[in-house]
Amino acid sequence: MSKLNLKNQDNKSSIKRDDVCMLCNSKALEIVYYSNSVWKVNRCSSCSFAWVVDIVERSHNTSFSWNQEIVNESSLRNNMYIDRLDRVKCLHPNPFNWLDVGCGGGGMLNCVKNNGFKAEGIELSPSADTISKLYDIQVHRNVLKDTISALSQDKYGVISYFHVIEHIEDPINELMIVRELLSDDGLLVIEVPYFDSFFWKIFKHHHRHFYRSHLNYFNLNSMTTMLSGCGFNILNIDSVPYSMSIGWILKRLGLSYFSSLLSSKMLNKTVNINSGEYLFVIANKK
Ligand SMILES: [Zn+2]
Repeated sequence: MSKLNLKNQDNKSSIKRDDVCMLCNSKALEIVYYSNSVWKVNRCSSCSFAWVVDIVERSHNTSFSWNQEIVNESSLRNNMYIDRLDRVKCLHPNPFNWLDVGCGGGGMLNCVKNNGFKAEGIELSPSADTISKLYDIQVHRNVLKDTISALSQDKYGVISYFHVIEHIEDPINELMIVRELLSDDGLLVIEVPYFDSFFWKIFKHHHRHFYRSHLNYFNLNSMTTMLSGCGFNILNIDSVPYSMSIGWILKRLGLSYFSSLLSSKMLNKTVNINSGEYLFVIANKK
């Protein structure tokens, strides 16, 4: 199997997150979007991309410590995964294999496997091992650039990032690797919090998706700038609804006490949230 010969793939990120936009190289910034004594967020006046700059060095990494809890929750969200799968399938990816980077609880991977794809994942959390055993799917426990030689395929029909790109220190480098791993008829799928959503405009830095581990913030303009700069055409870009179980919502709201008052059937019921806060993108190679 031929493997990539990528430059600049050492263990340390080659980018410097400072006062130059990494997407369009503009030095024209809006007034600092947010700052405190530890970190700040710059926003590019040209392409609207916003990014975290650490003032004090981060002592933690940006991945989660997901395990059984997220696997259980993910297994309840199948209708959402079917929705995403249908959006991808109608664009006829080829070959019929799917690499989900940051596969979390594995629900999306299990869904694509059940619909005929060869499924493979990358996940840094302990949930990787749980998913492997539960769904019999290969899940690697390292970042993409350090996983290339271990991947089962030379080329993929779909490579997806569901709520992952916003955590990646160097998204440009990541997508350049993806471009090499995608087949000519392959599709890149990205879902991120939508920085210019109605609720984001209201809550600003109080929005629940605004926190230090979300290193990158995208709207339509910055997402288009990033993908175009990495050699992709956008085929579809839209806001999408999101599913969560009632039990999960109560927990996230700090209302776990009420869980004891509800049956497990009720807690496992999912609700569709169509608040326009998630941007879903499908792209192919130029
Ligand atoms: Zn920019």
